[in-house]
Amino acid sequence: MALTLTQLNAASLQDATQWLAGLYEHSPWIPQAALAKRPFTSLAQLKSAMVGVLNAAGIEPQRVLIRAHPELAGKAMVDKSLTAESSSEQSKAGLTHCTPHEFETIQQLNRDYNARFGFPFILAVRGPRGTGLSKAEIIATFERRVQSHPDFERQECLRNIHRIAEIRLNDLFGTSPELGNVVWDWQEALAQHTDPGYAELGQLTVTYLTDAHRACAQRISMDMRQAGCDTVHIDAVGNVVGCYKKDSNLRISDEGYSPILHKTLLTGSHYDTVRNGGKYDGRLGIYVPLACVQMLAQAGKRLPFDIEIVAFAEEEGQRYKATFLGSGALTGHFNPDWLDQQDADGITMRDAMQHAGLCVDDIPSLKRNADDYQGFVEVHIEQGPVLNELDIPLGIVTSINAGVRYQCEVTGMASHAGTTPMDRRRDAAAAVAELMLFVERRAAADGDSVGTVGMLQVPNGSINVVPGRCLFSLDLRAPNNAQRDTLAEDVLAELAAICTRRGVHQSVTETMRASAAPSAPVWQSRWERAVQALGVPLHRMPSGAGHDAMKLHEIMPQAMLFVRGLNSGISHNPLESSTNDDMQLAVDAFALLLSDLAQSSAD
Ligand SMILES: [Zn+2]
Repeated sequence: MALTLTQLNAASLQDATQWLAGLYEHSPWIPQAALAKRPFTSLAQLKSAMVGVLNAAGIEPQRVLIRAHPELAGKAMVDKSLTAESSSEQSKAGLTHCTPHEFETIQQLNRDYNARFGFPFILAVRGPRGTGLSKAEIIATFERRVQSHPDFERQECLRNIHRIAEIRLNDLFGTSPELGNVVWDWQEALAQHTDPGYAELGQLTVTYLTDAHRACAQRISMDMRQAGCDTVHIDAVGNVVGCYKKDSNLRISDEGYSPILHKTLLTGSHYDTVRNGGKYDGRLGIYVPLACVQMLAQAGKRLPFDIEIVAFAEEEGQRYKATFLGSGALTGHFNPDWLDQQDADGITMRDAMQHAGLCVDDIPSLKRNADDYQGFVEVHIEQGPVLNELDIPLGIVTSINAGVRYQCEVTGMASHAGTTPMDRRRDAAAAVAELMLFVERRAAADGDSVGTVGMLQVPNGSINVVPGRCLFSLDLRAPNNAQRDTLAEDVLAELAAICTRRGVHQSVTETMRASAAPSAPVWQSRWERAVQALGVPLHRMPSGAGHDAMKLHEIMPQAMLFVRGLNSGISHNPLESSTNDDMQLAVDAFALLLSDLAQSSAD
């Protein structure tokens, strides 16, 4: 018999603890302490409470918990002395049926890992989809993590322990994240399409208007139609646009009809990828709202406004220099000069578009009239480590960071490394090294600014020559324009001061400047209400990366929702990942935002 939240909330502490005792291996004290926070309105809230208990417990109890776990395919498995939960998990992952070679590989990794960290390797072997990792995936993860830093690895073990508990909790309550699974599977199917040269390597690369890219557009169209969109079309830049129409019985004359709230809701994200990228960057923001459409369509429900989902054809700037081709077309910022840009093979954008059957003359007509829309919302995988480290599944984006980029050069004097005394040098690279350390300190002092010297070069340098020239790049970002400008002023002033003191010269060329796109407060608070209603801790954060929402920001209010990524939130990398449970929460949050909007249009 599956447990219910009502039962759990009403039960004695002793009974409730006993029911949850198996969630954390040999550690019923974790659910027991969390139960003090009853009543819970959702399983997500119970999970957060248990995460909070373990975080507050300190390092020693955390180590004890980690050590309470059996080794993967270890002695306890062979002796059949695993807990029932562990036994079922290890057998689902196929670990009970290892070849002798696989078994020996895992035993060696167990020994190496234990010797290095002093605790067993913990992996949620049922994986981010809950159905079980393959043995190859398990071994690859093991081999990667045995190289990690000890502090990181302890945290990573705890995160896996929480994931194990999450799956056990779902089993206990007889529930599964159905729409999270649908969203997961849609993305998995879409990831079958990858550009030539990468397919063979098992890598995902989908750049603008390649065969794989066009196959993606077709698959997304099909998914949109099957989910219940009323109209689906591919537009003149390759965006796939699906629309779920509003309740056609609503009339302008109806009492309480508010023209603003009956405008279309625009949402979506991109389906192109970087080279050897992840499966969720962009695509999650197409499929989360689509899952909501499917839910509405299956229930025969209509909202008082249209939902327009756009799968943007291009955001990453991989094939051509120009970026945001998809969302740029909607804001009327598609520059016709871009059509003459060439890819690495000399194919112009115009030729690529014509070859794909797109009509370039129609691009200007894609410009949206902002008056037709309520606003734009975008769901996106975080692409950073913050939510993963905090063990929080969803994040509220406060602003997409403002940025500025410079290409710089410092000129000193190249001289003999053996004969030039330390106090007579005019070392260009040492000056830049000093600046780099300043950039680190200065950006960190803001708390939420970031600064990077990503390119650093001593042209024609030699091992026995004091560097006479140093070329470097500067990338500075902050949540608002003023903070970015102050950061940039301070960094450039420090560069000037360093150069004066060292008797070297600097030249600085600004190559890019993008304004911050702060979330519209009313839309940000809609996301916040949704996340709070789910019982998930509220965490506000800026977006360090650019997104399609940044373009739409130019013509309408926007706000984004971030979803936690696994593996330290790594992105633009095949290790990019997220769980079915987190995807389900994103769908739930989106559905709550929709009902919030529908509700306010009825008020
Ligand atoms: Zn993206």
